Amino acid sequence: MKTWFGKCLIVMLFALQAQASQRAENPHPLSPRFLDVLVSTDHLTKSDRASMERRKAGDESVEWVIPVKIDLNALKGDRFEAFLFDRHVVIRRRESNLAPPQYGERWQGEVWLPGDAPDSDHMGLRDADFLIRRGRVTGAIRIGQIVYQLSSTSNGAYYIFKQDVSKLPEKDDVFVPDDAIYPSGSSTQPSYYIDLPIPRPSPPPQQIHTARIVIGFSTEAMDGNLNALVDDIHYWVDQSRSAYSASGIPLMLDVAAFAQPGYTESSISKTLNDLRRTDGPLWLLHQARHYQYADVMLMVVKGTNNWECGGTHNIGSTRETAYMVVRRGCFSQGSIAHELGHLLGAHHNQEEVGHQPAKYEFGHGYYRDSEPHSGTPGFSTLMAYQRSCLYQCPRIMRFSDPRAIHNGHPRGTPYNNNVQAILLNYGALANYYPDPPRSNQSAQPLHTPQGIRWIPAL
Ligand SMILES: [Zn+2]
Repeated sequence: MKTWFGKCLIVMLFALQAQASQRAENPHPLSPRFLDVLVSTDHLTKSDRASMERRKAGDESVEWVIPVKIDLNALKGDRFEAFLFDRHVVIRRRESNLAPPQYGERWQGEVWLPGDAPDSDHMGLRDADFLIRRGRVTGAIRIGQIVYQLSSTSNGAYYIFKQDVSKLPEKDDVFVPDDAIYPSGSSTQPSYYIDLPIPRPSPPPQQIHTARIVIGFSTEAMDGNLNALVDDIHYWVDQSRSAYSASGIPLMLDVAAFAQPGYTESSISKTLNDLRRTDGPLWLLHQARHYQYADVMLMVVKGTNNWECGGTHNIGSTRETAYMVVRRGCFSQGSIAHELGHLLGAHHNQEEVGHQPAKYEFGHGYYRDSEPHSGTPGFSTLMAYQRSCLYQCPRIMRFSDPRAIHNGHPRGTPYNNNVQAILLNYGALANYYPDPPRSNQSAQPLHTPQGIRWIPAL
């Protein structure tokens, strides 16, 4: 009995000591805990567990997936703690001068790690960013190349997964020049088209343009959970818009509609070819685009780790070629902003142009390699391939621009100026379709083999 009591005491003492040392590390022990790892997983259903497993399947960049609990009240304050399973962080709110999101409430903060300068701008490399929409929260905590993403199952249980974006494919994307013409044919794929009631934004001041996007997704990308996919897309489209805005490009991005074409994916090139056809398996996106006056079409696929992160037809676009494909697992790598950058005339860094002719001699991505001797960290801008670096150059969520400074270095050169290329085209792209009339906000038809139905907004 005595031995048992003694053991208990030792365990208690250890626990108290651990608590005390945790307090010593954390100067603000009363910060609310926004995110915590769950001790019990009894509440998870079989489908919850399956859904979490699928998030990891086929994607080597995802290290683990674990269930968590969330305290939304913590987002009312200016700082909170988050226990990320393998890391404990404190996050402080950061004021943003960017336009607020159109789809919910945003909470932006800086991840605090020992040794960080209090007000440094890590260009999206030490950020916490959450979108609260319809009572659910989506978001990500980024620490360098590691991204902890928050998602939920169809039963409303939250989980986080840890992704190492440096393990995404080295080759970012693929081009399928638009002379690839398909034989025409008809499609009888079961599909339906989900409308969203998007409030028309108030007339923007001059030079701000809004690109409306129709988002299609494959059955694999949806992963059996439409709500989580929709939350994810709203979040990452908003992150892309922030990247443009922070790079000095006043391009708003508006999700015009979601289309679920009942599409089985096979490769990015095949999906790009399918996107070209108004009578092929992706006809529904064209219809949604027409009904919703959308400028651009984005098809989201799941793919595997062997696939590129995305693709477009060309550098630059017309109304007939403004299509892009992006893997869902690459959202955190800025792939939506990257592929859209191609449609806007931006190309990779010069070493990675391949056979794809540049639209502008000056419109290339830029990277700066790290200097191990001096300890100077490297970086690459959104259109540059990180594999061009000998050492390390994590991607920052900004486009190349010689006028801008990052960590004391110019973010481009006269030949590596994606911002200039994009500014020449963003107005045209945002007008591939005229803006929608104010009155046209009703639900759109839902096409199924059973006929036309209507679906309530998500
Ligand atoms: Zn690319």
